[in-house]
Amino acid sequence: MDEKRLDCVHMTRRSIPSIDRLIQQYSDCGLPRGFLTAVIRKAVNEHRREAGTTEHLNASIRSAISGWKQQRIQPVINATGVVIHTNLGRAPLGQGVGEKLVQTGTQYSNLELDLGNGKRGSRGSYVEEALAILSGAEAATVVNNCAAALVLIIKALTERKKEVVVSRGELVQIGGGFRIPDILESAGATLREVGTTNRTSTKDYEKALGPETGMILKVHQSNFQVSGFVESVSHGELKKLGGRKRCPVVFDLGTGNLFPGLEVEGTATEPTPMQAINAGVDLVCFSGDKLMGGPQAGIIVGKRSLVSRLKKNPFFRALRCDKLILSGLQEVVEAYLGEEDGPVSPVAAMFEISADETKARCSSWKNVLSRSGLKMEVVEAPGTVGGGSLPGSSLKGFALAVRHVGLSAKKSLDFLRGGEVPVIGSIQSDRVLLNPRTVLEHQDPIVLKRLKELGQWEGLA
Ligand SMILES: *Cc1c(COP(=O)(O)O)cnc(C)c1O
Repeated sequence: MDEKRLDCVHMTRRSIPSIDRLIQQYSDCGLPRGFLTAVIRKAVNEHRREAGTTEHLNASIRSAISGWKQQRIQPVINATGVVIHTNLGRAPLGQGVGEKLVQTGTQYSNLELDLGNGKRGSRGSYVEEALAILSGAEAATVVNNCAAALVLIIKALTERKKEVVVSRGELVQIGGGFRIPDILESAGATLREVGTTNRTSTKDYEKALGPETGMILKVHQSNFQVSGFVESVSHGELKKLGGRKRCPVVFDLGTGNLFPGLEVEGTATEPTPMQAINAGVDLVCFSGDKLMGGPQAGIIVGKRSLVSRLKKNPFFRALRCDKLILSGLQEVVEAYLGEEDGPVSPVAAMFEISADETKARCSSWKNVLSRSGLKMEVVEAPGTVGGGSLPGSSLKGFALAVRHVGLSAKKSLDFLRGGEVPVIGSIQSDRVLLNPRTVLEHQDPIVLKRLKELGQWEGLA
């Protein structure tokens, strides 16, 4: 380093406020002190390297603080109309489930204690039995999520016979990084593809089954639709075939629709685990936090002998659920089995909202905001099920379309997302759409307050 440069470094060093002073200055920023200290140290180090101004240093600290604060998990308001929104945490849990989580989480519980004899008990045996009863299966168990359930099933059922027979029409990608062929490979199984993308027949399966077949896997096409010249083999037919060849049939159902009456415009009704079990499928797996409306979990229901095999596999221990999940799930399953009046979960309640109700709610929002300066219109806008469930489906309803006279829809959307409780909307024809279906009723005042602020905002900050 030449002398001139050294000089310069010394000068800026002298002008750097001390770390302690900076921590003091930003102490009420909302980040814990240890985190804030690390943020400031990092910014100061960069500042030393780059020899910028103090203003520059402060600007970079402020931006790091606000960036990290936005990444903390916090409540947001879902005004997208997408009920199972994976980016927004999928199914919101009901009040009762929330209370159960607090109760289990803040005290000791009988998680693995048999209260009858005081000896070690089995984790989750009640919720497993309840899930079996609910789905009409012999037995059930629970792991972390449906992807984990599938890995466990493949691991356990292909220990000796490695081949898994899957239709080419079902070699799908479900969400980020979840591809059926990759899952099979990573679980050490061999993929045996049958049929074509659009057509697979019973004969195709029949030809593929042999001494090496460990299982037949059917994957629910939960997040896309194929139409036209298509043929697939129902899980019922597969069961007949599997039964003849003494080969277990597994159905990765994913979505986990437990409402037999769920009818959403524009789709064939989503299959239920009960139907698959009824048809004789050996194992069915589905998510807890999609249509079921519970916490993240992978639920496996089916034949007792196979479920026991899964539970004896070493992977089961690695994929097991926490007490919070098991007790939350217990609450949800009990709501289904309780057959009480009213929706079983907030997700179910959102499905039941009528188009008229969404219209009335939009109109009342519009009334409250009549002097906000925003241009508003109540427009027809369907909600969707989301979460890769019922593709092409729509839930008839209305949304409030909002336009700020001086700002683009994108800027307005960003502003709504930037409040103390972020409001997440969508954009259509250069307007912000706010769909009331997914806004919990107690959140209305927050949405309205933020919209009023939007009306007054000049777009400068
Ligand atoms: C969603 C889905 C999964 C993955 O479920 P997670 O609970 O998110 O792991 C697997 N299979 C199907 C068919 C799905 O729809």
